[in-house]
Amino acid sequence: MAKTIIDKNDYLTIDREGLDFVNIAITTTNIDSKNLDDINRVFKDVFTLKNLSKNKQIHSNIVNKVDRQNIGQIIDGDAIITNEKNVPLLILTADCVPVILVDTVNKAVGLVHAGWRGTYGKICSETLKSMKESYNTKPENVVAIIGPSIGSCCYEVSYDLVEKFSALLPNVDEKIYDIRDNKYYLDLWEINIQILKEFGVLKSNIINMNICTSCNCDRFFSYRKHDKTSKRIGTFIEIK
Ligand SMILES: [Zn+2]
Repeated sequence: MAKTIIDKNDYLTIDREGLDFVNIAITTTNIDSKNLDDINRVFKDVFTLKNLSKNKQIHSNIVNKVDRQNIGQIIDGDAIITNEKNVPLLILTADCVPVILVDTVNKAVGLVHAGWRGTYGKICSETLKSMKESYNTKPENVVAIIGPSIGSCCYEVSYDLVEKFSALLPNVDEKIYDIRDNKYYLDLWEINIQILKEFGVLKSNIINMNICTSCNCDRFFSYRKHDKTSKRIGTFIEIK
C-alpha cells in the first residue's frame, strides 16, 4: 500500500497534501456499512452522522447533488456530490469500484459507485460534469482515489464485455483487459483511470489504492468471493 493510505483497522483513510479539508474513510470487514449500528459505533466521533447522505444504488450513471434542502434524502443514483460542510456522503460497494473525487480548490466532493455498468456509462465523467456545473470544478484541480474493488487479477468476464469496453475506449494504449488460460479479465481500475484522464484529471492526481477485494477478502467484502454477500464496504467523505 502507498504510504498515503493509513490503516485504522476498522477503516482506511488517506493522508495527502490538499485533502486536509476532508475526512475520508473506507471500511474493512470489521463493519458492514449497510448496518447503521456498525456505522454509529465506529464513526460517531468521526463524521456528522445526522447529515449522512447516500443513494439508492441502481447500477446507473445518475449523479445526485446534496445541498441544504435535501440532506439525508435517499434517491436512485450511483454518484453523489456536495460542497456542503459537515454532510458526510456514503457509497456502498463489494467488488464494484468506489471512486472518490475531491475538488481541492473549490472545495467540493463526489463519490462514485462504478460497477461495470456505471463504468460503461462513464459515471466518473458524469460526476465531474455535475461538479463542473454545480461548483465550477476544474478537472486539473481534482484528486481522484480508486478504492478497494475487484482487480483484473480476479475479474473474469465474458468476451462480450471486453468487446463492449474496447469499443467504448478505442484510442487507449493501456491494456484494459487480460487474457489468461483463454479466459478474459477486465481491468475496471484502468478503464476508470482512462475515463478520468479523458475528462482532464491529471495522472499525478489519480491514486489507485491497488487493493483487489477478491485477493484481500479477509479485509474487504467481495461479492464474488463471499458468495454474493449482502455486506458492503462503505466509502465515506465529509467536508470538515
Ligand atoms: Zn485479485
